[in-house]
Amino acid sequence: MIGRSPGEAGGATVPSPSVRLRDRGLRATSNRRQILHLLGSRDAHLSAAEVYEALRRTGERVDPATVYRTLEVLTEVGLAHAVDGPGPKRYGDGSAPHHHAVCRRCGAVKDLPLGGLADAARHIEELTGLRPDASGAMLFHGLCGACSG
Ligand SMILES: [Zn+2]
Ligand SMILES: [Zn+2]
Repeated sequence: MIGRSPGEAGGATVPSPSVRLRDRGLRATSNRRQILHLLGSRDAHLSAAEVYEALRRTGERVDPATVYRTLEVLTEVGLAHAVDGPGPKRYGDGSAPHHHAVCRRCGAVKDLPLGGLADAARHIEELTGLRPDASGAMLFHGLCGACSG
């Protein structure tokens, strides 16, 4: 018997931030829970500064250094992932592996589902021997709609 709480909203299979943190041996501090929740609830990938701003607006007591350190810790244990781009690193939720499309000019990051690129991933492996790692992260660079328009 696993102590899973019944009636989780919407039958979501992703456990709550507290559970995910404790599973990785991390204390479920308020900052960590808030940051994990924030990453999971946005489609976008956020820079440390954007995470800090978003938390401040919710009234959470944080400082930028703590936000940055927390994002690094979450990335180390696989609860989040970081995408390097032009500009600051952007962080995303780590629960569902995906590829990334990154704008070369503004650094905006978009998710690319694994399924849609299975053929491309296979071709790339045939041609180069390179295969996506555990995070599934293939990185594509280009110009986003705003920057190319
Ligand atoms: Zn991502
Ligand atoms: Zn752009």
